[in-house]
Amino acid sequence: MNFDFDLFVIGGGSGGVRAGRVASQGGAKVALAEEYRMGGTCVIRGCVPKKLMVYASSYSEIMTAAEGFGWTIGERSFDWATLIAKQDAELDRLEGLYRSGLSGSKVKVFDTRATIVDGHTVALATGETLTAKTILVATGGQPFVPEFKGAELVKTSADMFLLKSQPKRVLIVGGGYIACEFAGIFNGLGSDVKQFYRGAQVLRGFDDEVRGHVAEEMKNKGVDLHVGTNVTSVEKTEDGLRVRCSNGSVSDVDMVMYATGRVPNTANLGLENAGVELGRNGEIMVDQYSKTTCDSIYAVGDVTDRLALTPVAIREGMAFVETVFNNNPTSPDHELVATAVFTQPEIGTVGLSEEDARDQTDIDVYCATFRPMANILAGSDERMLMKLIVDKAFRKVLGCHIVGPAAGEMIQLAAVAIKMGATKEDFDRTVAVHPTVAEELVTMKEPVR
Ligand code: FAD
Ligand code: NDP
Repeated sequence: MNFDFDLFVIGGGSGGVRAGRVASQGGAKVALAEEYRMGGTCVIRGCVPKKLMVYASSYSEIMTAAEGFGWTIGERSFDWATLIAKQDAELDRLEGLYRSGLSGSKVKVFDTRATIVDGHTVALATGETLTAKTILVATGGQPFVPEFKGAELVKTSADMFLLKSQPKRVLIVGGGYIACEFAGIFNGLGSDVKQFYRGAQVLRGFDDEVRGHVAEEMKNKGVDLHVGTNVTSVEKTEDGLRVRCSNGSVSDVDMVMYATGRVPNTANLGLENAGVELGRNGEIMVDQYSKTTCDSIYAVGDVTDRLALTPVAIREGMAFVETVFNNNPTSPDHELVATAVFTQPEIGTVGLSEEDARDQTDIDVYCATFRPMANILAGSDERMLMKLIVDKAFRKVLGCHIVGPAAGEMIQLAAVAIKMGATKEDFDRTVAVHPTVAEELVTMKEPVR
């Protein structure tokens, strides 16, 4: 059978763009449909604009610290419109690079929504119907907001980069990556920030000591964090929004941001037409090669709800190309994936938490908290945390957790050693780089537990 394309990719985000480009460079005839802006969540309303906002928000502390080192800073002010305009220009530039990368690789781009008609056919919102030997679904996810009275009044992460002005009183609901990152952003930019989380401690799934440390430092920096707190209603008032909670508390704010998780973009995609099976949360079920229950349809990235991180979506896309176009069956590797949470202070983590490791084997825990040298003159009491989880018998480092400045940068390098199977003794025989905060990783002598 003759198809219009060898590969049709639905979704121009991290996973789809990489898979489409690499398959095309390898000689396949590839098309890609994107319904919004090229680059997807990461570039347009995720990692990139978020990190730019983290940078912007960090300058308030940097300016205070500078005074401790003898600088006179003078009057400070922050202009939201300037940040957003510069950020928009950068996102336009990046989107352009994504587009030129695709056209340079001869991928045919359709700027429209695509849905599945059958295992080899997609329908475009323009009315066109196209066929492909293989279809890759890389449609990502979108914010989830639970149902409650006034849910239509709240915003999500997708709205944050489009706000015309800076809300002065912000309430953030949720305790995951996005909630904690945006609490730090708005706090650093000078808004009054409340954060409500339903559970006992934010950042569920991370190492407990890391969670406690970050929560305390966030509070020290000014985030008014309330755990065990559920919103029951949001209503409009003359000058903003009134939020009521199950514990009886009432808060008046200018903006409520819900960061209560994300759901895969599988609704109305026509997946049922091809017999593609979905999981409980609407995620596409795939095998180890990212193949769905339809032989000619694959899926990568957030839509499969495996590990919702950009580098993982990219790796899944590349593994898909290896498997389908290079005759080299390759499973994406989801083991020991390092991640950073751009909270303030930042978290870098790879491998097992102390709690998970203890469930699996006997461990030694090495941990240090200390005030980094820079903070002393800066007049900051903020402490840093470094932690290694080590298998007691085999001495292998099972987990590394860092909280503090540049934790994300450090964990990338620690992850190389840990992925190679480094033991605690390998860390110990590595000579320290002095004076750095990172040297603590190779100088922790005695286990604390
Ligand atoms: P996406 O990037 O979401 O791309 C999917 C694309 O498909 C979208 O452009 C969408 O418009 C398009 N689409 C959907 N349906 C259709 C259709 N029917 N037809 C045509 N097009 C369609 N990850 C990190 O690693 N580091 C971070 O710091 C980080 N920060 C984040 C911050 C925020 C606020 C958010 C929301 C996410 C963040 N992530 C981060 C996660 C990361 O953005 C995602 O894991 C990644 O973008 C997933 O890539 P993807 O290709 O699966 O999907
Ligand atoms: P997360 O899953 O990280 O967090 C969701 C939060 O919302 C949790 O605290 C959860 O509570 C809470 N929640 C869920 N449902 C409800 C509800 N009905 N009512 C109240 N609270 C609720 O999701 P995010 O949206 O923060 O981020 C999505 C994913 O995107 C992340 O998991 C991550 O993979 C990726 N991401 C990565 C970033 C990075 O790499 N730096 C940054 C941002 C996102 P509970 O814990 O009790 O379930």
